[in-house]
Amino acid sequence: SQAAAPPHIAILPSPGMGHLIPLAELAKNLVSRHSFSVTFIIPSDANTSHLQAQKSFLQALPYDSINCIFLPPISFTDLPHDTKIESRISLSVNQSLPHLRRALITLHESGTRLSALVVDILGVFAVDVAREFSIPPYIFFFSNAMALSLVLHLPELDEVTACEYKDLLEPVRLPGCIPLKGKDLPDHFQDRANEAYKFALEKCKKYQLADGIIVNSFLDLEPGTFKALKDEGCCKVPVYPIGPMIQTGSGSNSSSDCLKWLDEQPDGSVLYVSFGSGGTLSHDQLIELAVGLEMSGQRFLWVVKSPDEKAANAAFFSVESVADPLDFLPRGFLERTKNRGLMVSSWAPQNRVLAHRSTGGFLTHCGWNSCLDGITNGVPLIAWPLFAEQRMNAALLTEGLKVSLRVEANEENGIVDREQIARLVRGLIGSGEEGIFKDVGNRIRVLKDAAAKAWSHAGSSEKALGELAHKWTIQV
Ligand code: UDP
Repeated sequence: SQAAAPPHIAILPSPGMGHLIPLAELAKNLVSRHSFSVTFIIPSDANTSHLQAQKSFLQALPYDSINCIFLPPISFTDLPHDTKIESRISLSVNQSLPHLRRALITLHESGTRLSALVVDILGVFAVDVAREFSIPPYIFFFSNAMALSLVLHLPELDEVTACEYKDLLEPVRLPGCIPLKGKDLPDHFQDRANEAYKFALEKCKKYQLADGIIVNSFLDLEPGTFKALKDEGCCKVPVYPIGPMIQTGSGSNSSSDCLKWLDEQPDGSVLYVSFGSGGTLSHDQLIELAVGLEMSGQRFLWVVKSPDEKAANAAFFSVESVADPLDFLPRGFLERTKNRGLMVSSWAPQNRVLAHRSTGGFLTHCGWNSCLDGITNGVPLIAWPLFAEQRMNAALLTEGLKVSLRVEANEENGIVDREQIARLVRGLIGSGEEGIFKDVGNRIRVLKDAAAKAWSHAGSSEKALGELAHKWTIQV
């Protein structure tokens, strides 16, 4: 009978490896712990390199009960050139909604009864499609509880604020959160006349229409914020903190070189430098970072991407750099640092690097997945936010959790200079952790234990996922 069939859910990730990775972990957990079947329904734009990265990633998942449907790519010839990345991603999901309907019909006709459609925060309009099909919609919030609180308060904030957020004299105060400087709010909130902001406001309203919001954070990481979300009535739907959902498994096979190199380094001696799947620096900034690393005299493993002058997220849709990123480094840099630096082009097996005994620090762009990677592995951080909601994450890590030191860009040219980089790296790696650096290290190791506890037997995240699985099971 139908009731005996294992529960089956569908997941609609928005384009971007950082969006797909935690959702794949969610799927793996539902399959291995709760015997679910999961179908990924993948929207994409016409960018084949990006799609290819997603395809190989999904095909490498070792589970028979995880399947994929790739929706026909949509094309973006008519977008204005100043369209922000958040809009672009949301639009690619929106334009795929007719294809999503067709996929849901096909699944239904083949006898699949879905007990949930999980969409991420850039695909929230799919909530309506789920409703059309009487499938309970859930939102996967791939950032933290503070960001969720901001999104839920945005309509109110919008009403009471007359200026641009970056010009606010007082910080934004969200219940249970650290005070947030207006300029640390996400990129697409910074120009309120822009389509992307209007779009964000519209999206906020969809949250309350879902049956639940799944958050990739955990209770002990943001206890005050989770409590406020629940108690102060701003979130009318149940919130499930199930983090940290971070990438497990081996990842790509380009991995072995850097792990072998790490094997040869002393304990805690290496700074891992990465700006995520899409982050890019300007050429001047890239050179400044290289010189700063060289001046620090410390060991480093740097995932380097070709510079881009126009956008800090230039690699988001391409993943692989087109030009060889090593060609942009200062003359002689590779030769001079060859005994203590390793350069990796485009991608490293981040969690294996962070788990390695030789890794002693992580310079991160503060994408939320990377923040969780750092926390889970207890590696102290240097926060260097670039785009999207990364400045907010950097504030949470630095001022709230106090597990990172944040770089400061020069106000005139926007550059983080070599002296500052060298000083931070030396402090974090070189000094054997003294003073403020020691505090940062101690605190992140406390969070590492808290993260492990959340996912241990009867831990808060394990229980929250169990509740969800139960809800989805009885709905079959
Ligand atoms: N990642 C990785 N190797 C890299 C860069 C990124 O494995 O060289 C993974 C990382 O573990 C994380 C994701 O890609 O799961 C990046 O997500 P994040 O939210 O940090 O940033 P985004 O790429 O979305 O800006």
